[in-house]
Amino acid sequence: MASTVSSKVVLITGTSSGIGLAAAIAAARSGFTTVATLRDPLRADALRKAAEEAGVEIDVRRLDVTDAASVAECVAGVVADHGRLDAVVNNAGAGHVGTLENESVDEVRQVMEVNFFGVVQVAKAALPHLRATGGRLVTVTSVGGVIGQPFNEAYCAAKFAVEGFMESLAPVAASVGVSVSVVEPGPVASEFVANVGVDLDRSVEEAGPYAPALQAYVARTRAAFASAAQTPAEAAETVLQALTADRPAFRLQTSDAARAFNGVKLADLDGSAVQALTTSWLA
Ligand code: NAP
Repeated sequence: MASTVSSKVVLITGTSSGIGLAAAIAAARSGFTTVATLRDPLRADALRKAAEEAGVEIDVRRLDVTDAASVAECVAGVVADHGRLDAVVNNAGAGHVGTLENESVDEVRQVMEVNFFGVVQVAKAALPHLRATGGRLVTVTSVGGVIGQPFNEAYCAAKFAVEGFMESLAPVAASVGVSVSVVEPGPVASEFVANVGVDLDRSVEEAGPYAPALQAYVARTRAAFASAAQTPAEAAETVLQALTADRPAFRLQTSDAARAFNGVKLADLDGSAVQALTTSWLA
């Protein structure tokens, strides 16, 4: 793809499906030179089809967030070919359903590897380039990054970790001209549930003393996804808002339902009070 320095360059992770795919199309439509990354470029068919239908060009590249070499190579290649990097959307992530007694510490570590260290790895590789452009670092977390949810201990721990990391980084990054935001979806009808990769009915059978609670959780979650899930395109609108608003909030929920849910816990729903406080430490 021809490089252009006249338009802003955004790199998005995890664009084979769901919010990442929709965000790539939305960003390209709004004029960004869009680098849509996937851990397996052979899984780019849906992305390419969506780009064709939308009449937009997308630069598809390989990036596995758990592979430091692939992250470094991709970011360096983007800067070499496009001359700049204005924004990164850390979108790649994977759900996990389980509870402490029924899973290994290695499984918990793997959930952290994808959902937390993957984000850290991409952010670290991108930050010098974002600093050069006064760019934006946007990370898709979850309502589960604010409220811990049953049988999501490892996933919510990883998303809490991302929220804590980014909330801490935000004033520091702002001091060198980089804006940091997190985007918090509630249920979204993507490949997310299928990609958890477990047979939930079988998990209930194997859950021992936790079976009644897991069964109730699975039933409630299926109902929530059936009745209240956003489309990936709807959630991607909030990602685009984080990329394009003059001064995006630190924390953006993707729906009124997500705002109401996180509002149960957060007095500082958009993060502005904490950012004002911690930014004042660096003045
Ligand atoms: P999705 O359709 O399953 O998309 C997840 C994407 O992440 C896929 O493209 C997947 O690629 C990619 N990915 C997974 N591991 C990766 C790795 N190691 N390196 C690079 N890419 C990797 O689900 P989604 O709903 O769009 O999820 C996007 C983000 O939203 C995630 O961070 C998720 O935690 C968050 N979120 C989702 C929901 C929801 O209800 N859907 C709610 C709150 C937050 P492959 O195709 O190769 O697996």
